[in-house]
This record gives sequence, structure tokens and C-alpha cells, in this order.
Amino acid sequence: MTTIGFIGLGNMGAPMAANLVKAGHTVIGYDLSAQNAAAAQAEGVAIAATAADAVRDADVVVTMLPAGKHVLSVWGDVLAHARRGALFIDSSTIDVDSAREAHGLAQKAGVASLDAPVSGGTGGAKAGTLTFMCGGAGDAFARGKPILEAMGKKIVHCGDAGAGQAAKICNNMILGVSMIGVCEAFVLGEKLGLSHQALFDVASTSSGQCWSLTTYCPVPGPVPTSPANNGYNPGFAAALMLKDLKLSQDAAASAGASTPLGAHAAQLYAAFEAAGAGGKDFSGIIEALREGLA
Ligand code: NAD
Repeated sequence: MTTIGFIGLGNMGAPMAANLVKAGHTVIGYDLSAQNAAAAQAEGVAIAATAADAVRDADVVVTMLPAGKHVLSVWGDVLAHARRGALFIDSSTIDVDSAREAHGLAQKAGVASLDAPVSGGTGGAKAGTLTFMCGGAGDAFARGKPILEAMGKKIVHCGDAGAGQAAKICNNMILGVSMIGVCEAFVLGEKLGLSHQALFDVASTSSGQCWSLTTYCPVPGPVPTSPANNGYNPGFAAALMLKDLKLSQDAAASAGASTPLGAHAAQLYAAFEAAGAGGKDFSGIIEALREGLA
């Protein structure tokens, strides 16, 4: 089995590290938060005193951190302490430019690397059913895949350095735009006297069908497991959706892509967050649309 360094033991990282332990790997973790580190320790993760100590003996290092600046700072600090030939995997959701910069740092240090952001949320992290979207060289992907399989059920090689992050933010731009579209249709239907169930029954079997409607329906009733039935508790918090939409807009600006609906979705989620709703599930934006958010 493999010795794995794991840096960033938060809502996602802790259950992911716990699944690596369950798969029989030796996991040496590190987190700035003593409380988060202690929670991971209770799941069998050995806790190192410093990030450098977590990577020193590791064949594979996984990072699960908030944003690009954290990943670049941690990789910049610890790569010099890593074994030559180790594999570094960043599973955080970060901007494509920082992801490519991180690959460059690894290459200079003689370390293989993958960007491997995830979808599936904290539920998927606990259940070990995440989807990993990977960018990097084919041999790095081949080495990383069996490790990622302990934490996920679908592991996709999307292309070279940064391609995993590109796939993640493109997917989440579709999600943000489609959720707002579904919410708008329910709000319009309400004004037209159409019941939620009738609209759901028609649209879920017609050309309006999409995940935001059929799996994550933003009104209570038609899909009993959706956050709408639970006071819009996340789920996937609106603040995280805003983060991903901003990443998509940064990438669109730097690549010269026209994404007008992505841009408007980012504005709407920014207004939703500014109104104090960033901690609600992202489908809760339907409440603001009812009140006239435009
Ligand atoms: P989180 O805030 O719960 O965890 C981040 C952890 O990183 C914290 O424990 C924090 O103390 C630690 N940390 C920050 N800087 C550090 C440093 N320099 N050294 C060591 N530890 C450090 O966040 P999360 O929900 O676990 O998300 C992590 C990443 O996964 C983010 O990029 C997020 O966008 C992405 N993501 C989250 C979800 C979700 O549903 N929560 C879903 C998919 C992707």
C-alpha cells in the first residue's frame, strides 16, 4: 500500500483522507486548523507537525485547499521536501492559470503532478463516490488513478495540465446557468397559475429536462431529496457556486471566450451572496428571483 501525504483536512479533505485510510493506505495529514486535523485523526489519519513532515515520506501527496493562492503557497513550501519522483495531486477547485503554475513548480522539483478537482460534494466525499476530472501527463494519470479510485467512482483524464480544472469550471458554469433557468421557469409558472408538480411532470420528460430540475429541483415536492425540501440547507452552498462562476469568468476573460449567461449567473449569485444568502443551497436563489432579483 502507498504512503500518502494529505494537506487540507476540511469538509472535503477529511472524509477523502478517511477513505484512503479505509483502502489500506498510510495517510499522513496536515491542516492549519488543529480542530480539523483532530477530526481526521479520529478517522485514522496520522497528523504531522508541519506540511513538510506530511510529504517527506510520501509517494503521493494530495492537497484539498480553498483556492489557487493556497495551493501555490503550499506546493511552493513543500515540494523541496518531497521525494524525487513523488506524485502531487491537487483536488481543490482553483483557477486554471494557478493549476498550470502548480504543475510547473512540480516539474522543476522533479515531481509528477495532476490537477484533479472533484464533483459530488461532501456526500460524495464521505461515500467515496466523487468524480475526479484530471489534467496532466498520461503516466501521472496512470499512477494517480488507483489512488483516486479509493475516493471516487469516476476518474476521467481530461487532457494536459489544467484540463481537469477547465472541465470542472465549464461543468459548474452549466450548472449555475441551468439552475437559474429552472428557477425562472418555476417562478413564471407560479405567476401563470401552473402547479409545481405539473411543470415538473412536463419539463422532466420534455426538452427542458436537466439535472437542476430532475435531481435538484428548486421547489419542494417533486424531488423529495432536493435541498428545497430542507429549507435550502446545503447541499452545495451558493457561495461555492459563486466561487466557481467567478473562476469560469476569469478563465473566459483570459481565454477570450464569450460567456454572457455565465457572466450574468455570476452577477446574480454575487447579489444573492451580498444579501446574506451565501450559506444557503444554491437552488435557494429561487427565493430571490421571486422577490425580483434580475
Ligand atoms: P474547507 O474550508 O472545509 O477546507 C479547507 C481546509 O484547508 C481547511 O481545513 C483549512 O484549515 C485548510 N487550509 C487552508 N490553508 C491551509 C494551508 N496553508 N495549509 C494547510 N491547511 C490549510 O473547504 P472544503 O469544502 O473542504 O473545500 C476544499 C476545496 O474543494 C475547495 O477548493 C472547494 O471549492 C472544493 N470543493 C468543495 C466542495 C464542497 O461541497 N464543499 C465540492 C467540490 C469541490
